[in-house]
Amino acid sequence: MATCTHLDQIQVDPPEEFAGCEECLRIGGTWVHLRVCRTCGKVGCCDSSPNRHASKHAAAEEHPIVTSLEPGEDWSWCFVDEVAFVVEPG
Ligand SMILES: [Zn+2]
Ligand SMILES: [Zn+2]
Ligand SMILES: [Zn+2]
Repeated sequence: MATCTHLDQIQVDPPEEFAGCEECLRIGGTWVHLRVCRTCGKVGCCDSSPNRHASKHAAAEEHPIVTSLEPGEDWSWCFVDEVAFVVEPG
């Protein structure tokens, strides 16, 4: 079973409040689902969104792990290992 080897790059908690995808808000774009980068806290949109800002950010900044910001969802995804997992709080 695949595991993520980048857990040490989780440096921030998911935000409690967020307005939406930071890049989409800047360009007037729309998004489907939101993800947060766990290395720097940047909020981006998912791969079902037109602009895919979360995965673009992960590739550009080499920040591998995002967590879903959808209500009731707590899973994370590593773009490098391509594996989903849940980060235990604390
Ligand atoms: Zn990983
Ligand atoms: Zn976006
Ligand atoms: Zn980041």
